[in-house]
Amino acid sequence: MIVGTPKEIKNHEYRVGMTPESAAEMVSHGHSVLVETGAGLGIGAEDDAYAAAGAQVVDSAEEVFARAEMIVKVKEPQAAERAMLRENQILYTYLHLAPDPEQTRDLVNSGAVCIAYETVTDARGGLPLLKPMSQVAGRMSIQAGASTLEKAQGGRGVLLGGVPGVAPGKVCVIGGGVVGFNAAQMAVGLGADVTILDRSPEALERLGMFFEARAKTRFSNKANLEECVAEADLVIGAVLVPGAAAPKLVRRAHLATMKKGAVVVDVAIDQGGCFETSRATTHADPTYVVDDVVHYCVANMPGGVARTSTYALNNVTLPHALRIADKGWRAALAADPHLANGLNVWNGQITYKAVADDLGYEA
Ligand code: NAD
Repeated sequence: MIVGTPKEIKNHEYRVGMTPESAAEMVSHGHSVLVETGAGLGIGAEDDAYAAAGAQVVDSAEEVFARAEMIVKVKEPQAAERAMLRENQILYTYLHLAPDPEQTRDLVNSGAVCIAYETVTDARGGLPLLKPMSQVAGRMSIQAGASTLEKAQGGRGVLLGGVPGVAPGKVCVIGGGVVGFNAAQMAVGLGADVTILDRSPEALERLGMFFEARAKTRFSNKANLEECVAEADLVIGAVLVPGAAAPKLVRRAHLATMKKGAVVVDVAIDQGGCFETSRATTHADPTYVVDDVVHYCVANMPGGVARTSTYALNNVTLPHALRIADKGWRAALAADPHLANGLNVWNGQITYKAVADDLGYEA
């Protein structure tokens, strides 16, 4: 199969669909790989690295889209990219169609076979192609929070790990799923005093078994949450209620109970955030202050560490891409119902029920 990766064109997107190492794997399976010139620059991968991997570097996205039978990307195709898709071409990327009727219409009209990373499942009911980005955001939340706690960044001047003779900073992690677990791991690693809140008994048990005495776990009710937030130097918002906006667990009135210069990193901002006072920010201008509490609410945190994020994403997307290329998409999806869950649009129809329902199409 001819597999193509264009340069991402969405604003401030530095990741790339295939690393040179992934391209080399594709080539070793007997496939041809086309990569647009400069596609890997955002992760420090030069054209030469792709050429050395056996890929053909081409001058334009047009050439990639015209020749490739499968397009491997990161972000949903932008309007200019959608215009280049053709019937039966495979598009394998994040799509997030539900809130995006324009993109959905274009994909339906293109006749392309559109497989969305975010709806591929695994045997435990998880979303394995979303998980690495939550791992990245969770780990990064502590890095971002720690630097925002510095005075020059508006924080209260607390070193999370403390030093011998001075107590460590307190970190309150709301939500102990993938983001929360990874945040807690980093905070514990720094030597911070960590409390994780969750509503799920299974999550609390898992966290308790893993962290033992290195982190406290508490059931997420109003009283525990208010106490944890009031005592914290750093609060991480990491809740998710699948298919719903994040619950506003911390109201503006609570900010008055918090320490002056405390920091909130609301990772759940992509679902609206779990602080009433959260609004999405960018890597260029990540923080703002409300009632003396510094808010960090970057909606695409993994984009800030594009290289790590690209490699983490490729680790989970490449095995499926190889199977699609090796067997053809029909046979690959027929052999793996979890990959089949990724099929969102095919033959001019929306094939993923939740998306069709949201947008009023027939599934
Ligand atoms: P997850 O499903 O693995 O974990 C969510 C956890 O929240 C679950 O354990 C759940 O029990 C818990 N929860 C639900 N309601 C709660 C409540 N009231 N109190 C305490 N805990 C509660 O989800 P995840 O992968 O960890 O993702 C968390 C959020 O981070 C999502 O909104 C996700 O979209 C977002 N995210 C954002 C970025 C970013 O760049 N900002 C990147 C990745 C993920």
